[in-house]
Amino acid sequence: MARCVDAAARQPPGTPPPGLDLQALSAHAWALELPTPRERRSVLRHEAAELIDGLLVRVARSQGAVDLAIGDGLAALSRGPGVLALGFSSVGDYARERLGIAASTAQKLASLSRGLRERPLLREAVRRGEVSTRKAQTVLKAARGVDEAAWVARARTESVRGLAAAVRRAGGSLPEEQPERLVRIDVPLTRSGRPWFDEALALAGRMLGGNAPRWARVEIMCQEFLSSHPEPLEPDGRVQGADEAEEDWPGDARSEWLAAAMEALEAETDRWSYLEVLDPVAAPPSPDDDAPTPPVLDARLGELAAQRDRWDALVGHLGLLMMSLRLWREAGFASFSHYCAERLGMSGRAVEQRAALERRLYELPALREAMAARRISYEKARVIAAAADGDTVHAWIARAETTPCVALRREADAREDAQMCARGDMPVRMPRRVLSLLEAVVRAARDAAGTRLSDETCLEWMALHFLQTWLDAVPPPRSRHQRVLERDGGLCTMPGCSRSAVHAHHIRLRSRGGSDDPSNLTSLCLAHHLGGVHGGFIELSGTAPHGLHVRVRR
Ligand SMILES: [Zn+2]
Ligand SMILES: [Zn+2]
Repeated sequence: MARCVDAAARQPPGTPPPGLDLQALSAHAWALELPTPRERRSVLRHEAAELIDGLLVRVARSQGAVDLAIGDGLAALSRGPGVLALGFSSVGDYARERLGIAASTAQKLASLSRGLRERPLLREAVRRGEVSTRKAQTVLKAARGVDEAAWVARARTESVRGLAAAVRRAGGSLPEEQPERLVRIDVPLTRSGRPWFDEALALAGRMLGGNAPRWARVEIMCQEFLSSHPEPLEPDGRVQGADEAEEDWPGDARSEWLAAAMEALEAETDRWSYLEVLDPVAAPPSPDDDAPTPPVLDARLGELAAQRDRWDALVGHLGLLMMSLRLWREAGFASFSHYCAERLGMSGRAVEQRAALERRLYELPALREAMAARRISYEKARVIAAAADGDTVHAWIARAETTPCVALRREADAREDAQMCARGDMPVRMPRRVLSLLEAVVRAARDAAGTRLSDETCLEWMALHFLQTWLDAVPPPRSRHQRVLERDGGLCTMPGCSRSAVHAHHIRLRSRGGSDDPSNLTSLCLAHHLGGVHGGFIELSGTAPHGLHVRVRR
């Protein structure tokens, strides 16, 4: 770390900031190393904060500018047959598999681009880098028609927090919150109970669709159990345990406290006026300016995504320094998310995620090398970072190079599952509300039995109850079509597709003499079946399930 301290100390106040050139910035950024816990005490906090903040703001603005162009390209691809012509059934799948960008990020970028198309003043301000995308998202729904100009003017000067409060006061709505954060729970099961639980999960999957996540399956099992085994009431009619649940989940009180702290800091620091003022970064030209064909758009998006990756690595590195040294406090912010929103114009969670990967890359240097050589994408690296250790990382990287990201994630989940299965428990990543439902099931089961059953017994009872209630209503797959869907796990078999399958398609068409043999049938989602295959964009040959060949006609 010595270098982080030294570099900070060497930088006398008033030194001209390094330019926006990627190479110069990279050199500055990578010269700063993550200090060991022992070294942390000797960090010159104020100087380090100033230095890292200056670099991080430049990097974040450059990445934000590239993101705008990517959003425009993705929005263009989502019109007409765009993504299908490239072999994908949604923009999210395309972005994850081809660009290595998370599906949810891609959807957000495309939807901001569509919103800005209808708001020319806001779009111009954002493209010039004068208004951050975070601010644009905050005022987007309010900035319409005659009100647009006024909101753009406010967005140029006010904070994200201030804008959000103003939008709420004006009766407008804010963008939808991020999807719920999932917590990992090891659901306790006995070895003998595990098969019941697995069967109940599979049945729930037949009801919800093959791509329904495990927590959604657990959720309907809980609801079914609670509908016939109500939670015990205390004498005064309140549900037992409701108080603990509230304490467990202090969301509201805490965010009110945080909101007050944010407002106070903003006023006290005159909107952080002491922090370095940096030039805005204009967005590169939109990739869709001349109505290009899908393959041309794909090529342009690929170039933009490569640029984004380079900025992204710097966001991860500098974000990790800022976060682990808690330098956002030095800079005058109430939390890391607060710093990211106001100063970087980014979501705190996005930077946190990237920084978390960066931390793992210190432990798995082979993964960093594979990313730098562009052998694997950011999204694949995230899967590997969670699944691999020093011994298995090379095998995972080799596997990732030939496997779509969505399939890689399913493999990682299955492997983790098999390890846990040996112990009896089952790992489920779930929103907190599903965890509360599981706890309610345990209370309800104990109340119904009149004795303190173990957690395992309660949950296995829930699984059995679900099977008894639904097994007859959802008959086992009987038709050939249903058996093919069952064989393919209820999932679309196109590489990189994340959707549930709804149809079984004849690989060699029946009209051309194709048989009804299962090896000539493969499961497809609606978009891939009707739009992709029968729309003429995708050609299938070979045999299912393991010898299927897919060709995208370009
Ligand atoms: Zn068909
Ligand atoms: Zn599909």
